[in-house]
Amino acid sequence: MPTAPIAPAPNTAGCSLPRPLPVLGDEVRAPIADGGEIGYAALDYAASAPALRAVWDEVAAYAPYYGSVHRGAGYLSQLSTDLYEESRATVAAFLGCRPDDQLIFTRSTTDSLNLLAGALPTGTQVFVFETEHHAALLPWAHHGHPVTYLPAPRTPGQAVATLVNALADAAPGPKLLCVTGASNVTGELWPIAELATVARRSGARTVLDAAQLAPHRPVDITALGVDWVAFSGHKLYAPFGSGVLAGRADWLSNAAPYLAGGGASNTVTAQDGAVGVVWNDNISRHEAGSPNVIGAFAIAAACRALTDAGFEQLVAREEELLAVLRSGLATVPGVRQLALFGPDAPRVAVLSFVVDGWSSEEFAKALSERYGIGVRDGLFCAHPLVRTLLGPEGDGGRAAGCDGPLKAIRVSFGVGTPAEHVE
Ligand code: PLP
Repeated sequence: MPTAPIAPAPNTAGCSLPRPLPVLGDEVRAPIADGGEIGYAALDYAASAPALRAVWDEVAAYAPYYGSVHRGAGYLSQLSTDLYEESRATVAAFLGCRPDDQLIFTRSTTDSLNLLAGALPTGTQVFVFETEHHAALLPWAHHGHPVTYLPAPRTPGQAVATLVNALADAAPGPKLLCVTGASNVTGELWPIAELATVARRSGARTVLDAAQLAPHRPVDITALGVDWVAFSGHKLYAPFGSGVLAGRADWLSNAAPYLAGGGASNTVTAQDGAVGVVWNDNISRHEAGSPNVIGAFAIAAACRALTDAGFEQLVAREEELLAVLRSGLATVPGVRQLALFGPDAPRVAVLSFVVDGWSSEEFAKALSERYGIGVRDGLFCAHPLVRTLLGPEGDGGRAAGCDGPLKAIRVSFGVGTPAEHVE
């Protein structure tokens, strides 16, 4: 059997970390094609947003108190447990959770939605638009639930009408709608409160994929009337590796633990060659093993930082920069901005486009190599949506006769993005 090499393959740009390493706050310099260097413009926040300084500072301040949670009698364990549970409460408040909601720390949005998929009552009928990110599209059938895939709506009103019709035809039994708050391809906002109301009236529950919404807009689980919310720390200005699933406790408490192991189990006995287990029926049920304490702490720090900055101000600045970006792109001949709901639909700072005469891949590469601008090209883990948006025209490269799969270019930004990066 071939073995994987231990040494990492060189990256395609042939670059390496500068030594000495830059410190937080230093400008990141990127090599460019003419052999020089340029200040790097990170415009790929929708993939992962750089963690905020306030988050790194809080995480660093916690370092001396590092201890295992829920397990030790020692001072640092007690303190870490307090901080971990305090983080849970902070995030729950940030999301406007109801008093009896549960908030489970996970690895990511993908992890959260898979956890929920594994916790649905048997036979739950799931409704999901085929335009969703794969993390919201795929877990349900993967866990054996019957799924109704709803066709791409071209207006928010059509999304609501499509759901009304689909639920009218649904068989009795538990039902779930999974829907995104903001598209990771177009940035467009979805009519969450309306969709959740329609779902509720038909006895269906709603889970909100807030991976792209939470970093840009306040998310209030109670006001929106949704049953669960999922998001990722690394898109909300915290480091990688932590996420959240928050919402109704009942289905979660009745489901088999997500992972089997310590923490999830209350009592374990071994007798006559058999092992018996009584699982916890509280939050620990789905947090087996040693949790990502730093991750939870970092998400809470990010929630505090965003709350302190004030969403009103953050949204105002974001909309200003987004208008600059969109009107600027509109003046460039051959650029086609992609939209599902139309050019005037409200959106967050995520925007995809294609360029006449260019394959998206080559265009994104040129932005990086010539100008030090980091964007993303591809189908953004939302293949059906991007194919719908590109339509028969394809991307500009295909139109110009270039080979290769159809793709788009995505620009996204957020808190801390300097105006000149957008310009
Ligand atoms: N949902 C949306 C809308 C996303 O944009 C993403 C990531 O891009 C995900 C879910 C999955 O997030 P993660 O990769 O952190 O699990």
